Amino acid sequence: MAEIVVVDDSQLIRKMVRKLLEREGHNVHEASNGEEGLRLIDRTGPDLIILDLEMPDMNGLDVLKRIKSEDSFHKNTPVLVLTSDNDPRKIVELLNANASDYVEKGTPEEVLLARVRVQLRIKELLDELDEKNKKLQRMAETDELTGLYNRRYVMRRLEEEISEAYRHRHPVALTIFDVDHFKRVNDTYGHTFGDFALKEIAKIIKGSVRLEDVVARYGGEEFLVLSPSTDKKGAYRLAERIRGLIAAHLFKNRTAETRITVSAGVASYPEDEAFFPDDLLKTADRRLYIAKERGRNRVVWEG
Ligand code: GH3
Ligand code: MG
Ligand code: MG
Ligand code: MG
Repeated sequence: MAEIVVVDDSQLIRKMVRKLLEREGHNVHEASNGEEGLRLIDRTGPDLIILDLEMPDMNGLDVLKRIKSEDSFHKNTPVLVLTSDNDPRKIVELLNANASDYVEKGTPEEVLLARVRVQLRIKELLDELDEKNKKLQRMAETDELTGLYNRRYVMRRLEEEISEAYRHRHPVALTIFDVDHFKRVNDTYGHTFGDFALKEIAKIIKGSVRLEDVVARYGGEEFLVLSPSTDKKGAYRLAERIRGLIAAHLFKNRTAETRITVSAGVASYPEDEAFFPDDLLKTADRRLYIAKERGRNRVVWEG
């Protein structure tokens, strides 16, 4: 069943089209002029628009141009135009303005219906394609094990956030977490338990940040938190809280239980002399290394 908007100034034609489409099981909405039609289209977000070319006030071509304009929400919605003559210039003009098809009034009903079916079929395929593209996009940005963003995504965001920060004179902070002695966890309890622990850590981090923060799995047992509009002090506090939560957590599943800690390095723009994503990453990484050297299970924000 599809949602279809019919815009025609003739009540007779609207009635005829409605009857025809309702018989097919579609939901039909009617408008008697262009302005009303555009409002109805906005309200119902239809799968197909059937549009009369000859109407007083705003004619079909003007309505079509509005529907297909760059900033329109409905520019991908098919529009089937009803015409009362077959003036080639008008038809070319319609098709050039992105009408999907046209049907002359007086065309047998079954032909109109067949043309409607073609448009709905195309619309369905386009919607499917759109859905699949969105899914692919999500997959391309997501770390499979933890469901967090992946490295590719966070690198892109880091670049964007630094230029935003520069433009609006806001700070932006970056924290790298690395699991301490994770090789030992794997060696002692097995890789499956290791995976379980990574998922738990991901949940703890994700549960601690604000909505605007970006949490990513950066590498094997490394996580990254990108905090827009956050200075070093704020990022340090957040990292400390996360470190504490992880240290206090008992990692326990059916096969084993253990304690795990993380170390972290914090860097921020503009407090650190880092103007490029790589500088900020290097600074955070250097501090992470210092945290490891100082005995792990700690957060370092200078040096
Ligand atoms: P450090 O405290 O110095 O960071 O010690 P570490 O053992 O954590 O560091 P190292 O880099 O030597 O080892 C990291 C380990 O993380 C080795 C690797 O097998 C493990 N690892 C990386 N990715 C995954 C994963 O997806 N699943 C599991 N289970 N282990 C992983
Ligand atoms: Mg008319
Ligand atoms: Mg590591
Ligand atoms: Mg490690």
